Amino acid sequence: MSFSDLGLIEPILRSLETLGYTIPTLIQSQAIPPIIEGRDVLGSAQTGTGKTAAFALPIIHRLLVKGNPPKGHGRRIRAVVVVPTRELAVQVCESFLKYGRSAALRVIAVYGGVHQSLQVRALRHGVDILIATPGRMVDLMEQGFIDLGRVETMVLDEADMMFDMGFAPNLRHIMTHMPKERQNLLFSATMPAPIELLARQILKDPARIEIIPEKTPLEIIDHRVSPVTKMAKPAALIAYLKSVTLERAIVFTRTKYGADKVTMLLVRSGFSSEAIHGDKRQNVRQRTLNDFKTGRLQVLVATDIAARGIDVTGISHVINFDIPLDPETYVHRVGRTGRAGAGGTALSLCQPEERRLLMSIERLIGKRIPVLPFEGSADSAPSEGMDDGDRRDRDRGPRTMPSGRPFQPSRLPGKGGTRGPRPFSAGKRTASK
Ligand code: AMP
Repeated sequence: MSFSDLGLIEPILRSLETLGYTIPTLIQSQAIPPIIEGRDVLGSAQTGTGKTAAFALPIIHRLLVKGNPPKGHGRRIRAVVVVPTRELAVQVCESFLKYGRSAALRVIAVYGGVHQSLQVRALRHGVDILIATPGRMVDLMEQGFIDLGRVETMVLDEADMMFDMGFAPNLRHIMTHMPKERQNLLFSATMPAPIELLARQILKDPARIEIIPEKTPLEIIDHRVSPVTKMAKPAALIAYLKSVTLERAIVFTRTKYGADKVTMLLVRSGFSSEAIHGDKRQNVRQRTLNDFKTGRLQVLVATDIAARGIDVTGISHVINFDIPLDPETYVHRVGRTGRAGAGGTALSLCQPEERRLLMSIERLIGKRIPVLPFEGSADSAPSEGMDDGDRRDRDRGPRTMPSGRPFQPSRLPGKGGTRGPRPFSAGKRTASK
């Protein structure tokens, strides 16, 4: 199947050709035809499946087919995409711009964390497609800068995360300002009860699309755990990163303070590293992310809120400096690697107090996470995972390793997951700007 089989018009096909997209992904081939027809869609799919193009392409198609918008200030917002995070807003906006390159459509993203003046100026200039995070959108609506009276299509992207972040009231407020007769597209990685309810309330006879990846990213990732004491985590992190062939890594911490501390440690150890978290100004977060995408930064340190939905290719390693409090977060974190079918390594540094958290992760992903071998110790023999005895121990919490020896993991890992103990090339280790 090709994109022209899906009914997309010529200018869009040309953009796709320039981008080198030849075959639609599963979600694209299933979602584009009903969206072009004007139907509502309920899509259960994660980022990395080509979801953005699955709604962006037919939205651009419909806007163009319905006629060119009036020039300048006469433009009215005709499509709105609401997303949970600022980074995702920028990413989705960039996608619309690249897919609609040859179309004379104006697309802007509005999100918090930056001064609103540039966004207000762009809105005054006239906009066809608006991408927004819920908080800033409601802010700008209340100040009279956003008029949703002509919206033809609304997309709720990553709806489950918007609910988790407490945006439900904002979403309802936004929808009351749109015409009742409109097309609604709802995409969500998971379909918990509140999302099912929302879908029933707002979608009319939706086309239901569920994309289950053939091999989930979870299956192609090499999951590893390194039992370490809290004190030994910094040294273990550095030793691990130096022992592997690193393309790009993300280190996750639970707190903003922790993220800053780990970043300092990495920079002192010769890695180019920056942190993104909620206390960083949005333009700094965006610059950091761009530097990471272009390869100027090798190790990104992030808290969870800053990282979901981010699409960066070539992330070879995800490291959980702290084990996340809920197991679903682990899945989102490690999903940063293993995108688009490429494998990667996810290492969790697990202190004794975090073992219970690790066990609930193992329950969720349905497999045991093998211990990373330690060079020079009996534990360095290839391990198929902690044995059952150890798992019973972990329930009770005594500090023993599979061998039954005291929990003393501060000897540093000498083997880098699947990639072996190749030294880290000096050329890649540049100091941070
Ligand atoms: P998304 O799930 O929207 O975050 O997309 C994941 C990545 O796949 C993005 O980098 C897209 O540019 C890319 N992509 C989307 N659709 C296609 C396609 N049909 N062919 C090749 N790459 C694609």
